[in-house]
Amino acid sequence: MDLNLSSAASHPASPGDDQELSVRVLIICSGQAGLSAALYAARADLEPLVLTGMELGGQVSLTYAVENYPGFPEGIGGMELVELFQKQAQRFGARLEFDLAADVDLSERPFKVVTQNGKHYLAESLIITTGASAVHLNVPGEIELTGRGVSYCATCDGWFFKDKEVMVVGGGDSAVEESLFLTRYAEKVTIVHRRDELRAGALLTERANSNPKINFAWNTVVEEISGNGAVQSVKLQDTKTGEQREQDIDGVFVFIGHTPNTSLFTGQLEMDQNGYLIADDRMQTNVPGVYAAGEVADPHFRQVITSAGMGAAAAIQANHFLGENPLPE
Ligand SMILES: Cc1cc2nc3c(=O)[nH]c(=O)nc-3n(C[C@H](O)[C@H](O)[C@H](O)COP(=O)(O)OP(=O)(O)OC[C@H]3O[C@@H](n4cnc5c(N)ncnc54)[C@H](O)[C@@H]3O)c2cc1C
Repeated sequence: MDLNLSSAASHPASPGDDQELSVRVLIICSGQAGLSAALYAARADLEPLVLTGMELGGQVSLTYAVENYPGFPEGIGGMELVELFQKQAQRFGARLEFDLAADVDLSERPFKVVTQNGKHYLAESLIITTGASAVHLNVPGEIELTGRGVSYCATCDGWFFKDKEVMVVGGGDSAVEESLFLTRYAEKVTIVHRRDELRAGALLTERANSNPKINFAWNTVVEEISGNGAVQSVKLQDTKTGEQREQDIDGVFVFIGHTPNTSLFTGQLEMDQNGYLIADDRMQTNVPGVYAAGEVADPHFRQVITSAGMGAAAAIQANHFLGENPLPE
């Protein structure tokens, strides 16, 4: 991947460790929401700076193929899509720094952001796109086979499992909802749950119980996922007896929770009960000039296209805000 990232040494306007650098729009991180915001802010001549975070390109970089982002009728690799987003933003002057926002002070404008590399930024406006992370099983094989049969998104990957047999790990609303969705494609869906009953609501539970394609492995956990280049089998353990068994399977969907990356903003920005940032329909948070876009503020849709759209909207709004609220010289 052609990253072409800036560093303090390569950019004359970059600050030394204890200097402060003023930027008009600072974007925290480089997922699709962040890079779309960067494109729109750059085209508005706001010279945005993106702190990329350590996982370049965000969640989509983990996936082998994206087939539901319009404009790519044959689909596109996750990393390839990230690279195109990045190049387009850079073409109009967005600058990317391979660094992590470590501390923020949003009590007054300009907002203060200190990075892991010890840089201090003063931002006239801030766009937060720190995303969210699916909770992992943390079992052998999970990371290696992510995007190769292990998935955290039925909308994204269900289509790949036409007439196949898949497992869904979890027992809450998401797990059951996604299992029902997967029955459109898969021949058989087994919900693997560590307890002996679902935590999902009554209506969803009833739908799952009456769906002939869904069956259940109660009191069961996944111990290992195996496959040569793609998922082929799982090792399961009975939580009551400790008994282990191997089962052939084509895919493993994990829905055991989703955590927004918002700890940096605790006490400064309003969040819902699950920690997602609360933004209005213009991506505005409770602090004027601070915007939130993408999965960090979206517990519902969690897609590249919706995240990118929110990022673009945040940058358009930041442009209006800066025009109407200039800082004193
Ligand atoms: C395996 C997988 C496959 C998927 N497949 C598809 C698909 O086919 N189609 C689809 O539409 N969607 C897919 N999705 C969902 C899609 O990737 C996300 O909805 C989308 O990428 C969210 O973008 P985002 O910019 O909001 O956040 P993210 O992609 O979560 O990016 C957030 C970034 O912020 C960084 N960050 C966090 N904290 C900081 C900080 N303090 N400073 C700097 N950076 C920080 C993170 O490291 C991360 O890089 C998939 C997701 C996964 C996990």
